[in-house]
Amino acid sequence: MNGNHKTRSCAELHVIPVLSDNYCYVCHFDESALVVDPAAAAPVIQLLEEHALKLELMLITHGHADHTGGCRELERKYGVSAAAVSDGMRIAFAGSEVLVMHTPGHTADHSCFFLSPAVGAPLLFGGDVLFGGGCGRVNGGAYEAMWSSLLRLRALPPETRVCFGHEYTLDNLEFALSVEPENQLVRTRLEHETARLADSGVTAPSILREELLTNPFLRADDPVLQAAVGMNGAAPLEVFTFLRRRKNTWG
Ligand SMILES: [Zn+2]
Repeated sequence: MNGNHKTRSCAELHVIPVLSDNYCYVCHFDESALVVDPAAAAPVIQLLEEHALKLELMLITHGHADHTGGCRELERKYGVSAAAVSDGMRIAFAGSEVLVMHTPGHTADHSCFFLSPAVGAPLLFGGDVLFGGGCGRVNGGAYEAMWSSLLRLRALPPETRVCFGHEYTLDNLEFALSVEPENQLVRTRLEHETARLADSGVTAPSILREELLTNPFLRADDPVLQAAVGMNGAAPLEVFTFLRRRKNTWG
C-alpha cells in the first residue's frame, strides 16, 4: 500500500436503541465520530470507547427530551456541544459534509441531517419527521409544513439510508396496510420488517427507495393511494392531512 494514497473508509453507522423506542446514531469515518440525538449518554460513551472513536460532532434534530437527554453529559466528557444549525448550512465533518435541512412540522425547529460520503450510500438522519413506513406526529396543526418537509426529503437520492428517531415501523406498516389492504409492496415489507425486528431488534436504517414505495405519508399525491382513501384528484396536502389525522386515532 502506498501511504500517500490513503482513501477514506466508508461511513460506518451504529444504531443505538435508547429509552423505550428511541434511536440514537453514531456514524464514523475511521476514528472521527458524530452522534445524532443522544437521548442517553451511557450507551454512546460505551460505544465510543469500545470502538476507540473520537467524538467530533453532536447533532440534535429537535429539542424533545427523548432526543437530547444525554447531551450535557457528552458535552462535559468530550467538550463537544450540540451544533447550532440553520437551513442549508454545511457542517464539515471528517473530510465530508453534513447538510442541514430545516424540516418543520413535528416541531417548528426540527432539522434533518444529510451526509453524503465519498464512498457508499448517503445517510439521512430524519429524527421525528420521516419514520420507517410513517412520519412523526404533527404538532400545532403544521400539516402544510410537515408535508413540505417530507417533499424535500423525498427528493433525496433513493439509495439514501434513512436513520429515523423511533422504532415504530411495524405499527406504521400495519396502518399503511389498513389504508391500502391490496398493496402487496406494503404487505411484503411488513413481513420483511417483522422478521428483521425479530432477528436483529431494529428496523433502522431503511432505504429511501423503499419508503417511496411503501410509506403512505410520502405518497399523498399517488393516484393509487388517493383512490384507496376515496380522495381521487384531491390536493396532496389534503390527503396527507387526512392520513396523518387518521393515524392519530388509529389502533
Ligand atoms: Zn419529538
